[in-house]
Amino acid sequence: METPADPVGRIIDDLIGYLENLKEDGVTEIELSRELTERPMLMTSSPSDAQSPAGPVVPETRIPVAANDSAVNVKAALAGIASQIAVCTKCVLHKTRTKTVPGQGHSQPEILFVGEGPGADEDLQGLAFVGRAGQLLTRLIIRMGYRREDVFIANVVKCRPPDNRKPLPDEMEACLPFLKAQVAALKPKVIVTLGATALEGLIPAQGKIFITRLRGKWLTYENIPLMPTFHPSYLLRNPPAMWDVWNDMLEVLKLLGRTPPPKKSG
Ligand code: SF4
Repeated sequence: METPADPVGRIIDDLIGYLENLKEDGVTEIELSRELTERPMLMTSSPSDAQSPAGPVVPETRIPVAANDSAVNVKAALAGIASQIAVCTKCVLHKTRTKTVPGQGHSQPEILFVGEGPGADEDLQGLAFVGRAGQLLTRLIIRMGYRREDVFIANVVKCRPPDNRKPLPDEMEACLPFLKAQVAALKPKVIVTLGATALEGLIPAQGKIFITRLRGKWLTYENIPLMPTFHPSYLLRNPPAMWDVWNDMLEVLKLLGRTPPPKKSG
């Protein structure tokens, strides 16, 4: 929930303002410490990368599709997908979940944000990105000129991995049909993947993901432009990386023919 007293929101606003001021002064790069740029958490690889991109066989799931693009039909398709997720036992994550987290937002969004999987707050509430990382994502969305309810926010896996571990390749593969169906129903103009695992889950044949190299470079998923960027939780640990994320979001806005609203003074 966004509140004016939200400290994370203040940090991100201050940081974006600071970076914009630097940019106005002609600064286009900032120096990060070696320790930050070489942290292993920036690079992930999947044990399945060396295997066939086809991976394990996932049972066919009959997932509802929207009869046409009307908002009513899309909402009905999304509700159908969510109800299937609610009873899904296709991977072990169903055993430890409190609530499934199908994702939420606008039924005809310009942007679909895709994260890795639910955390503790999300697991309790059944909503995607409601913890600290979610607050930061909300502020970013607002800074881009949208309200949170204007976009759709989802994850690759719909149940929380225990201890916030990374979802395993077979779990992401088992869950992917749901996200695929959501993409087909939502028809977003742009997909933004948050972090290496989200990209790896959405495009399993991508191979080893180096998010530091891939972020900011346009890819496509099902003919939809896809912008990979850092996960908000990484930004909480490394605020200077906000510079990169903001530049990535400016690329997204440019593709959508939008510009960020002017900064609020005071
Ligand atoms: S993570 Fe996905 S595939 Fe696994 S049980 Fe949950 S909904 Fe089903």
